Amino acid sequence: MNTLTQSLLAERDKAVNWHPYTQMKTAGDAIPIVKGKGVYLYDDEGKKYIDAVSSWWVTLHGHAHPYIAERVFEQLNTLEQVIFAGFTHEPAVQLSENLLKLLPENQKKVFYSDNGSTAVEAALKMCIQYAYNIGKEKTKILAFRNAYHGDTFGAMSVSGRSVWTKPFGSMLFEVIFIDTPNAKNLESLKVQIKSIAEDTACFIYEPLVQGAAGMLMYEAEHLDELMKFCRSKEILMIQDEVFTGFGRTGKLFAANHLKEMPDIMCFSKGLTGGTMPMGITTCSQEIFNAFLSDDKYKTLFHGHSFTANPLACTAALASMELLLQEETLTAIDRISGQHSGFTEILAQHPNVENVRQTGTILAFEYKTDQNTSYFNEIGKILYAEFLQRGIIMRPLGNVMYLVPPYCMTTEELNFIYQNILEVLNAFKNQDHFPTHAAD
Ligand SMILES: *Cc1c(COP(=O)(O)O)cnc(C)c1O
Repeated sequence: MNTLTQSLLAERDKAVNWHPYTQMKTAGDAIPIVKGKGVYLYDDEGKKYIDAVSSWWVTLHGHAHPYIAERVFEQLNTLEQVIFAGFTHEPAVQLSENLLKLLPENQKKVFYSDNGSTAVEAALKMCIQYAYNIGKEKTKILAFRNAYHGDTFGAMSVSGRSVWTKPFGSMLFEVIFIDTPNAKNLESLKVQIKSIAEDTACFIYEPLVQGAAGMLMYEAEHLDELMKFCRSKEILMIQDEVFTGFGRTGKLFAANHLKEMPDIMCFSKGLTGGTMPMGITTCSQEIFNAFLSDDKYKTLFHGHSFTANPLACTAALASMELLLQEETLTAIDRISGQHSGFTEILAQHPNVENVRQTGTILAFEYKTDQNTSYFNEIGKILYAEFLQRGIIMRPLGNVMYLVPPYCMTTEELNFIYQNILEVLNAFKNQDHFPTHAAD
């Protein structure tokens, strides 16, 4: 491979592809990736990049994991897809059994879809229709400010209003937004919830970490308080673990940090170890039962062509097997511990503020006088600088974060820390960033 083929592929890409979250007018050439192995991705010139963000937070065990590949290949030769209405198959049954065993004990049924957004759509429809089915007029929904639950219309509606949702503002359904809880505001949040409890069908939240908002974190004990209050007011709770699930927060699920149990849970991202798109919505027996009826209108009329695709189910089974191995659980603890040591070093740095960590997720802000919106230039400059150093980090505005695959070694993680410090030091005494990195 040479520069010519690289530029050719980038050119062909530009001619036909529209990339996500990308202003195509100003975007640089997309980097052609030809291979992945473990924590590394390789471009067509042989340059390797360490994947510090798990390719948008999905890769758990590294790229092209041979065990997952083998299992999926075997399944592909056996049964690749079957309509999931009226039919079932071993991988879907086994996956549901295995997953439910790990979740809070009130989670009893598994509903399959294709990604995080659809897992959220199904959850919202379950809650709204639950109210309808039991004859209650409850249509209000409660969510956190700065929330992110996906990009489809329902998921956008329950997400914080932002630059991402602006063009659709008038078409999003109304949602009541409250702040994330802390010791000071808990009581006033309860007062707010109480005033709307009567017609509120559900409360949807990202537990402990608001990912896309910039890895904003809050305490489990305060969420527990809010959940307890919602339970007492008969407001259903949707716990969106699309990002926090499968070890990210240092425990298997964010649910493992909590005493209270949600009614519904959403999963995707790490579900298949980052190999295949799939979403899951689980729910309690009580919710499921409200749909059992001789009245046909009480059926959950929701489904997707690829619901419970056997290949994705198999990938998820294999990934969960790997996740539960002693070696992986130890690695999650080790990464969490290494992060925690590094937060102390970062906190001393003059260019850094708001250092925070939950398990394997580490985030901090680059101190700046510029506006700190998603559009701020610093993120772009830092992104380019790390890329040049062979590290894939993708800041959210001025928020830098690490979400490593669990197979990342001590040395590999230290290499990233070292580079972060080098970059911060290089920029320390400058009002402006070096311009070479900007594009
Ligand atoms: C990424 C994300 C989603 C949306 O998942 P997609 O698969 O990108 O549609 C939903 N909720 C949370 C918390 C997420 O982080």
